[in-house]
Amino acid sequence: ALKKPADIFGEGRVAAKGWDTTADDVLAAIEEARDVPLPDGKPLTVSEPTGKSVTITNPATGETIGTVLEADEATVARAFDDAATWDAPASERAAALRKAADLYEENYGVLFALLAREAGKTIADAIGEVREAVDFLRYYAREGENTVRAPRGIISAISPWNFPLAIFTGQISAALMAGNGVLCKPAEQTQMIAHKAVELLHEAGVPKSALQLLTGDGPTVGAALTADSRVSGAVFTGSIDTAKLIEKSIAENLAPGTPLIAETGGLNAMIVDSTALPEQAVRDIVASAFQSAGQRCSALRCLYIQEDTAEHLIEMIKGAMDELAVGDPWLFSTDVGPVIDAEARDGIAAYLKEKSGSIIHQLKAPETGTFIPPTMLRVSGIDDLEREIFGPVLHVATYKARDLEKVVEKVNARGYGLTFGLHTRIDDRVQDVSESIRVGNIYVNRNQIGAVVGSQPFGGEGLSGTGPKAGGPDYLPRFLTPEAGQSGG
Ligand code: NAP
Repeated sequence: ALKKPADIFGEGRVAAKGWDTTADDVLAAIEEARDVPLPDGKPLTVSEPTGKSVTITNPATGETIGTVLEADEATVARAFDDAATWDAPASERAAALRKAADLYEENYGVLFALLAREAGKTIADAIGEVREAVDFLRYYAREGENTVRAPRGIISAISPWNFPLAIFTGQISAALMAGNGVLCKPAEQTQMIAHKAVELLHEAGVPKSALQLLTGDGPTVGAALTADSRVSGAVFTGSIDTAKLIEKSIAENLAPGTPLIAETGGLNAMIVDSTALPEQAVRDIVASAFQSAGQRCSALRCLYIQEDTAEHLIEMIKGAMDELAVGDPWLFSTDVGPVIDAEARDGIAAYLKEKSGSIIHQLKAPETGTFIPPTMLRVSGIDDLEREIFGPVLHVATYKARDLEKVVEKVNARGYGLTFGLHTRIDDRVQDVSESIRVGNIYVNRNQIGAVVGSQPFGGEGLSGTGPKAGGPDYLPRFLTPEAGQSGG
């Protein structure tokens, strides 16, 4: 029998992220978070915001957990009038970001609670996410501390719901550390988390004029943030379709050459050849496809298994899937929580219905909330995937040993290039495949999700992103003017 996946998803991740506190402290914070009142959300702008109030739902239970005031067009316009660059010396900006990192750590409890109840994150995922957000704050503080180049001006930051604290924090902390003024818009599903994060950043000393939060929807707030001529740069993480809209709006409305960092989705593949260690491969396949309910941009979507060992491996994957606990994210034993909302659930459910003839294994999931049962589907190859299915759905194909190069060619031909996994014990194969596959992040003999800020920069190429990679040395400089300047140092 294989190890219980909760073991993989749990302690291992905490250790990998370099958690610098004791397990008892973390357990105490989680315990405290069970009953912590959740703060509502609203725009955090210099001028008083106006807009409409919406309710926020817990995806695991369907219960209303709070309300958020969403900004109207007038609020966005006033935020632009009030926005200013952060003209303090870089050392002062770094100190404020480090203070924010400390405040995030002091507020583990409420952040865990928000991640679990607003975003449906499991406890292990919530821990990893707070850690990553803290890492971003400290990393960019260090990276920008000695810069003497000038900021670009006002940066728009637009983020997704799937890493509502880590990606949100990563975008804005780099732009702020470079001395810019930032107008940020979180995804509609996760605005309470963003509100708490910006409150902590303001408390740490980031001026309100340099960081304004605009809760609200994509067509109103997001569109305005990428069409106002006062914007000097934009950073976006989300779907390729939205990225294209933003790119068009920037081209039509902003100054030529306005930089856009766009990090988008992927059709991520993994190849497992017949020399791979089966137990290890299966653990990594299951984690890559189903952790975070498959709602990671890096998640494994299309698995290629060498024909000779395929049936045996597929049986083992079924066994490992059966060990996954699907349900309440707020239980330590849970491996797979809900998908983000009813729209996501209905879209994936319709896809699975259409493909029902190809399903080779499917678990059961709770009827309440917005769950999708982890599912394995047989396909002939990556060409059968029409689009990124952003949920716990693994597509499996087999290949003949002599066709390995063709598999790599087919994966490349799809045009995405985010993550890629390889399980093999042949050193030359690692070399050859790594050289020919066109993706941002390659994972060999391990799972293909996750990256560590500062040591494993993350980001894709082609349809998966523009670069530079987040959490790496090239990211913050993109928020600075190319030539040496006077301010900011
Ligand atoms: P999304 O639908 O594209 O939304 C992303 C953000 O864009 C949200 O804040 C959204 O606001 C906003 N938006 C929507 N329409 C807009 C417009 N016309 N102008 C400006 N902004 C607009 O993506 P998602 O569903 O939140 O996130 C999942 C996707 O993100 C997946 O494809 C995943 O692969 C990708 N992702 C990529 C990475 C990476 O590093 N490459 C990391 C994480 C996720 P609303 O919420 O109000 O619609």
